[in-house]
Amino acid sequence: MLTTHSYQFWFIVGSQALYGEDDLRQVRADAEHIVDALNAAKTLPYPVVLKEVAIDAATITRGMKEANFDDTCAGVITWMHTFSPAKNWIRGTKLLQKPLLHLATQFRQDIPWATIDMDYMNLNQSAHGDREYGFINARLRKHNKVVYGFWGDAAVQKEIADWMDVAVAYNESFNIKVARFGDNMRNVAVTEGDKIEAQIQLGWTVDYYGIGDLVDEMTRVSEADIDAEYADLKARYDLVVGANDPAFYEQQVRYQLKEKIAMQRFFERGGYSAFTTNFEDLWGIEQLPGLAVQLLNREGYGFAGEGDWKTAALDRLLKIASGNRATGFMEDYTLDLRQGHEVILGSHMLEVDPTLATTKPRVEVHPLGIGDRKDPARLVFDGQVGDAIDVTVSDFGDEYRLIGYSVDAKAAEAPAPHLPVARQLWTPKVGLKRGATAWIQNGGGHHTVFSTTLTMAQLADLATMFKLTFVNLDESR
Ligand code: MN
Repeated sequence: MLTTHSYQFWFIVGSQALYGEDDLRQVRADAEHIVDALNAAKTLPYPVVLKEVAIDAATITRGMKEANFDDTCAGVITWMHTFSPAKNWIRGTKLLQKPLLHLATQFRQDIPWATIDMDYMNLNQSAHGDREYGFINARLRKHNKVVYGFWGDAAVQKEIADWMDVAVAYNESFNIKVARFGDNMRNVAVTEGDKIEAQIQLGWTVDYYGIGDLVDEMTRVSEADIDAEYADLKARYDLVVGANDPAFYEQQVRYQLKEKIAMQRFFERGGYSAFTTNFEDLWGIEQLPGLAVQLLNREGYGFAGEGDWKTAALDRLLKIASGNRATGFMEDYTLDLRQGHEVILGSHMLEVDPTLATTKPRVEVHPLGIGDRKDPARLVFDGQVGDAIDVTVSDFGDEYRLIGYSVDAKAAEAPAPHLPVARQLWTPKVGLKRGATAWIQNGGGHHTVFSTTLTMAQLADLATMFKLTFVNLDESR
């Protein structure tokens, strides 16, 4: 997948000098034990590094400043082994600009009734130390994450792991650059937005290019470059010529590969990790990019159609959080409203993300009425089945809002021989009527990112990090 920086998370354990050197040595040893065990368990996607036993404001402030400065640090995890007077945390916490997870845990899982004494009580004060510390985060409106429970529990480690994936995506969001080939589709409202505000709130850089810039890049793609991509395509997917003349079929597929190679080179040179196209703006190219987009999605590039740069950037963001597993651009297309069958059929004209495929994709060439160009090649497959989320970002003028719900991803009830595009079906977990009503009422658009890897809890964490309004439609009535 399109790479990100290599990240780690810093662990800072809170204490104070009151208890003496022996206790502080024990605090450090226990913190080392937890950090080593978390890393050895291999349940976390990124390493944890023990940084400080924080006993005073100067240590904490220095640690947080260093966390801000170090590009490899994706976030800070704090834990209060003992009581740690929280006025010491004010300056450092205010300065911290990275995601913060407060791990409210205790070194020992149980109460050692046979040996417990006041020394043990003084050393193991997480029960009230974590509340003293939590108060100051809340007072500072820090929007931090709290994970509560025994650090050795699999469920607790899973919560930390899920948060880490989101924290890395948050850090990477400030590196997301979207290349727009052409503008938004004319007269469409929901794909518009304030690009300056998107950069302020979400870190996204959104650059316009004329389609001629892509045409120019395509002139430099050689037949040998396309040969290599064609061989790779044949190795991975079923090439289905169908009713086409075989020579025409190959020509159409090769044209998409030429578009793919040209776009990838263009993006690599400019540092772009997401992009949009617009079927209204295809001057000088023969096919609306379909297969080309899908192959770039596979590599981790974010995408949305009709110039929808917001959804393209969201797609890239969520691909980072999900490790590019089963996460991609989606569009609400058509409905089954019969009782007992309620389902949304999601798809697009061509560009459905192959990370969502559960059947081996077929490379097919068919006419496309929209765009007035030659028959485009595309991947055709069936999508995911199971727990999933569907999410969108909308510009409300004064703020961006993240809107989403959890869904049941479903298998299609029947083949669709006259619909040669990839398809994904789902029903909101709150029910189609309730979920879709709330979606419409809240102004969520038809372009979304669909994922069977991410959870609504992770979306909530992401919104917390960005201080975005999060409209969780699972709670709709
Ligand atoms: Mn669309």
